Amino acid sequence: MRVAVPTEIKSEEHRVAVTPAGVRELVADGHEVVIQSGAGLASDITDEDFERVGADITDDPDALWHWADLVCKVKEPQPVEIARLREGQLLFAYLHLAPDAAQTRGLIASGATCVAYETVTDAAGNLPLLAPMSAVAGRLAAQVGARLLEGFHGGRGLLMGGVPGVPAARVLVFGAGVVGSNAIRVALGMGADVTVLDVNLDKLAHLDSRFGAALTTIHSSRLAVEESLQRADLVIGAALVPGALTPKLVTRDQLRLMPQGAAVVDVAIDQGGCFETSRPTTHRDPTYWEGHVLHYCVANMPSAVAATATRALANATQPYLVRLANGGIDGLVTDHQLRAGLNIHRGMVTNAAVAEALGLEH
Ligand code: NAD
Repeated sequence: MRVAVPTEIKSEEHRVAVTPAGVRELVADGHEVVIQSGAGLASDITDEDFERVGADITDDPDALWHWADLVCKVKEPQPVEIARLREGQLLFAYLHLAPDAAQTRGLIASGATCVAYETVTDAAGNLPLLAPMSAVAGRLAAQVGARLLEGFHGGRGLLMGGVPGVPAARVLVFGAGVVGSNAIRVALGMGADVTVLDVNLDKLAHLDSRFGAALTTIHSSRLAVEESLQRADLVIGAALVPGALTPKLVTRDQLRLMPQGAAVVDVAIDQGGCFETSRPTTHRDPTYWEGHVLHYCVANMPSAVAATATRALANATQPYLVRLANGGIDGLVTDHQLRAGLNIHRGMVTNAAVAEALGLEH
């Protein structure tokens, strides 16, 4: 199979979809791999690194997309990339279609077969291709949140861990999954006073046994959200219903409950965000004020640490990419884990949550 890896063109996206280790595996299985020139540079991987393991390099993205049977990338295709997709081609990338009707329409019209990283499911029912970026974004969320609390940003002028005699900042995390647990790990490491809310008691029990009394766990309800917001200096949004729009946990009215200068890092923004007041931002212009609360809603947070994130992503995607290349579109019929990633096939939405969110048939 002809596998293409383009340079990412989304604003401030610095990751690349494969590393030399992945190219080596694909080539060993008899596939041809072509990488767009410079695709790995921001992740500290040169064209020569790719060439050494058998990839060819091109600087013509139109020709690259035209040549490929399978296009593997990181972020959802941008309009110019959607226009290059054609019937019968395979696309393997993060798509996050539920909040993105325009992209979904474009992919339906292309006739391509689109497998979304975020809904590929492993044998245990987990989302193995979301997890590594969630780990990166979760750890980063605590770091970013610590900076937002600094006075220079208009924040509350708080040090996450406090100092002896002065209390630590109070961090509230919505969602005890991968983003949430990683954010909690770093926030606790910084010495913050951390509370997590989730509707899933098993997730809370797991974190309780992992972090012990250092972490407060609360079963999420409207009342619990309202009470917790009143004492939160920083809220990290990390709730997810797989494939669907993020449940809105905080309305515009409820935002008023938060203290002056409090901050929100809504990591879940790629599925719509936990706050009614959240809207996607970029690394170039990451924050905005909504009333008295500072919002950070960057949809591709891991790109800020591309060298780490590329390797973490490729470690997880590589075995699935090789399986997709080996089996092709027909292989999706029997590979149930990859099949769960199928979101669009020949003009039809094939993921129930996406179809429901967009009011489409599937
Ligand atoms: P996860 O499935 O591991 O965890 C989600 C958690 O949310 C689960 O524990 C679930 O029980 C909980 N949840 C569901 N409904 C809830 C509710 N009403 N109230 C409280 N908790 C609720 O998911 P994850 O991997 O941690 O990802 C979380 C979000 O972060 C996703 O939208 C993901 O796409 C996003 N993400 C964003 C970035 C970024 O750069 N912005 C990077 C990685 C992941």
